[in-house]
Parts: sequence; structure tokens; C-alpha cells
Amino acid sequence: MSLEFRCPTCGKKLFSYEARTRKYGEIIRKCGKCGVDYADPRYHELALDGIPEDEFGYLQYVLMIALGAFFIWRGLHLFGGRQLGVPEEIQWLMPSAFMLTGIAVIIAALIGIISVMTGAKRRRFDRLLRESEQRMKDPGYVYKLRKFGYNVPENYTGGDRQIYGGDTIR
Ligand SMILES: [Zn+2]
Repeated sequence: MSLEFRCPTCGKKLFSYEARTRKYGEIIRKCGKCGVDYADPRYHELALDGIPEDEFGYLQYVLMIALGAFFIWRGLHLFGGRQLGVPEEIQWLMPSAFMLTGIAVIIAALIGIISVMTGAKRRRFDRLLRESEQRMKDPGYVYKLRKFGYNVPENYTGGDRQIYGGDTIR
């Protein structure tokens, strides 16, 4: 399902995203129009959420291969028939697009499987976690996350109570 994200302050449409999108990186961003901070719902801090173990399962790739096979089957099926309302010279276009999409999805799944098997994906997540922990050392960033309702464990609060002494934070 595609969702639309608007700046909570000025209402400018900032981006569209899929509900299941899960990116890793800095959550707090600045609106290009009004310059006020917002929390980007696509982004997650691994230091807060932990490394999602389902990233290292094979089920997602099996599903991708099945989807890719379906696209290829669909393309082959279209090659066999004629599409109504499509001019003769571009009859090949749609089935080719299906086939290529299917092949691309299967290749992406195979690359994913290899990255899990070789430990490359695990190493990438370990690196992302270290980057996330690095960001959590910034009291200003932790303060903003808490302001936006993120539950930041005590060990990341550091000295922010002193620095932002005027504000009561959980
Ligand atoms: Zn704005």
C-alpha cells in the first residue's frame, strides 16, 4: 500500500512510500520548505530496534523467486497470444517487459540469498548498527527522537538532561 507523507508543520508533500518500507539511517530530517524537523517514518535506528533477524531468513527470497517465475510465466503466456487494442509492431513490448521484470526479480533474490549465505548481509547490518550507535552519541539527536515520541533507552541519554535542562524529558 502506498502512503503519502506530508510535512507535519507546513503540509508540503515530501514523499510517497510503501507501508512496509524499512530503511536504516537518521530518522530526523528537515523539511526543505519550512525548515522544521520531522520524523521520517521510513527510517529506523538499529540501535533502538535491534537488528531484525527476519532479514537473514530465506522466505523473502523464496517469495521473490515465485513472483519472478509468475512474471516470466505471464510473459510467455502473452507471447503466445495476441493482446487486443495493441498495435502489431509493439505486441512484443508487454510480454518482454514481464519477462525482464521476472528475470530481474529472480536475480535480485539470488544475490540476496548469496549475501545471507556468505555473511555479507550480516556484516552490512553490523556496520549499520555501529553507525546508528554513533548517531545515538549525539545528545541533540537523542533529544529530538524523544521529542518525536521514540523510546530511547537510558544508556543513550548521556548528558542531555544537563544540556537540555530546561525541558522535561521522559
Ligand atoms: Zn514543512
